[in-house]
Amino acid sequence: MSRLIAVVEDESDIANLVELHLKKANFRVKKFADGSSFLQFLEYETPALVILDLMLPDMDGIEICKFIRGNKRYSTIPIIMLTARSEEADRVLGLEIGADDYIVKPFSPRELVARVKAVLRRAEKQETPEILNIGDVVKIDLSRHKVWVYKKEIELTPTEFKILSLLAERKGWVFSRRQILQYLWGNDKIVLERTVDVHIKHLREKLGEAGRFIKNVRGVGYKLEP
Ligand code: CA
Repeated sequence: MSRLIAVVEDESDIANLVELHLKKANFRVKKFADGSSFLQFLEYETPALVILDLMLPDMDGIEICKFIRGNKRYSTIPIIMLTARSEEADRVLGLEIGADDYIVKPFSPRELVARVKAVLRRAEKQETPEILNIGDVVKIDLSRHKVWVYKKEIELTPTEFKILSLLAERKGWVFSRRQILQYLWGNDKIVLERTVDVHIKHLREKLGEAGRFIKNVRGVGYKLEP
C-alpha cells in the first residue's frame, strides 16, 4: 500500500497543489485545513510523513511540531515545515525542536516531492532495530516488550521498559531526568524529576548484575554503557 502523507495547510490552493503532485508520485494524501483536525486524526492513524504549514488558523505549526516530538507514540514521524520567507526565526526554531526539513513558499511542487522522498529515505534508514543487545548480557525485544538477562526473561513495568529501551537505543548518550520524563509522558504531566531515580533504582534491581550498565552521570542524568 502506498504511504500516507498528511498535509496540514489552510491555504487550499497550496494544499491542492501539494496533493496533486504527491498523488502523482504515488503517495496517498490527507489534507487538513487546521491543526485541531489534524491532531484528532493522529489519534486514529499515523502518517508516514507530515507536511506542516507554520501559520494555521487555530494554532501554531511549531506547537504541533513540539507535540509530535514530545509524544512517544508519534515522535518518529518525519516533519517537513512549510514556511513563508519572512518566518526565518520559526524555521530555525522548528528545526531545533525536531522538524526534519523545511521548504520556503513559494516552492516548486517537484522540489517538495523530492524533499519528501529524501526525508522518508533518511527516516527509514534510521528506524531502530526490533532487538537491542547490551553486550552479550541483555537482550531487549522492542516490539514484544520483553527483556532477557543472560537468556532469562525478567519482568519490567511498562515505565521501566520504556526507560531501558530509551537508554539502550542510544548507548553512551546522557539523558537528563527531564528528557526521560518528557519521553515517558510528554509535556502534559507534571512529575518530579526524582521519580526517574526511583524507576531507575527498580530497573537496576531487576536487571541484577546487568544493572551496572546504567550509569549515573552526576548532576546530569543517566546513560547506558556496556
Ligand atoms: Ca497558512
